Amino acid sequence: MLRNAPPVPPTRIDFSDEDAAWIAERITEVLKTGRLTLGPYTEAFEAAFAKYCGARHAIAVSSGTSSLEIILRGLDIAGKSVLVPADTFFATAAAVIAAGGKPILMDSDISTMSTAPEEIERRITPDTVGIVIVHIAGIVTDRMPEIVRLADARGLWIMEDAAHAHGSTLAGRHAGTFGRAGSFSFYPTKVMTSAEGGMIVTDDDELAAAARIFRDQGKASFHQNLHVKMGNNWRLSEPHAIIGLRHFSHLDGMITDRRRIAEFYDQELGNGRSAFTPIAPPADCFANYYKYPVMLPEGVDRAAVKAWLKEEHGVICAGEVYEAPLHKHPVFHKLDTGDLGQSEHLCSRHICLPIFASMTDGEAERVIAAVKAAERGKAAASLASA
Ligand SMILES: *Cc1c(COP(=O)(O)O)cnc(C)c1O
Repeated sequence: MLRNAPPVPPTRIDFSDEDAAWIAERITEVLKTGRLTLGPYTEAFEAAFAKYCGARHAIAVSSGTSSLEIILRGLDIAGKSVLVPADTFFATAAAVIAAGGKPILMDSDISTMSTAPEEIERRITPDTVGIVIVHIAGIVTDRMPEIVRLADARGLWIMEDAAHAHGSTLAGRHAGTFGRAGSFSFYPTKVMTSAEGGMIVTDDDELAAAARIFRDQGKASFHQNLHVKMGNNWRLSEPHAIIGLRHFSHLDGMITDRRRIAEFYDQELGNGRSAFTPIAPPADCFANYYKYPVMLPEGVDRAAVKAWLKEEHGVICAGEVYEAPLHKHPVFHKLDTGDLGQSEHLCSRHICLPIFASMTDGEAERVIAAVKAAERGKAAASLASA
């Protein structure tokens, strides 16, 4: 049918000509001044991001991965265990190990793609010091207030891996500000990008000061070659900060555009209208729709349906969140506790429909037409599980 139309891509990264000119002008400026790292653009980016989230501090760093490790080093997890969902990106657990801690995997709740308080309670051991909550797909679980109360009662901290959740809120409160600290990523495919980069948000003055030391080789200060912590080169360069600052100025607009597409998908697939069932954010959650995850009908093979959507309809699904839980990756086999079935089900049974800010109505309609065709053909041998 639409075989000759260009494919609907899984995502698209948008910088307008005006954005490109704005960025180029400022990069030229910093090339001339030589202020290429930890300068005024990094400070401006931090100030704007902190204000937006409603946090006291924001510390810009080289990536979402380094922001996680810096927070965990600041919380001094060496030799301690930290609870991490099994359904998350590699870096969430890897950062715990890099900071000297032991990740303990938690199972997921399929309805929110997050962790239930009961599951957290069950995994706490005497050496547990903290809990990592990951807002998968940009969805903030409506059980966040219960999780905060549980953590307080048990003397544990919460770190949010908000790499998916720039601008997502629960009851008006920003992702990244529910616990001791939040970590953001500005990797190109995220809701906003600085090419590479990350941001730590926190209200904790001490942790913020420690984070600034960690990101710059553990030096007591920028102008002082006295190393007081096991830091690294986790700085954000000024060119990256310039790109990030510009893209950040469009964040709310890009989220509005994503939400308009999500609303259309909801109308077509939501509330039992399709056997391809969207995972809907809770009512109190304003989601940024980093991803639009859909559970597959029983009997439909994921690889087959993705290949069919692509080949027959030119619809290229986005990457799953995640294709497999952490304990299914060889490097983390030893973290398997044998009772992580919900995350295994969640990971293996969903796809992510294309969604991005510059998606056209025509593209969104093609996605829905393709999903509906897949639904009609779901008994067909080509889509069925082997
Ligand atoms: C992208 C991502 C990271 C890592 O961020 P980088 O900027 O790529 O280092 C960490 N956690 C989650 C959940 C992510 O999606």
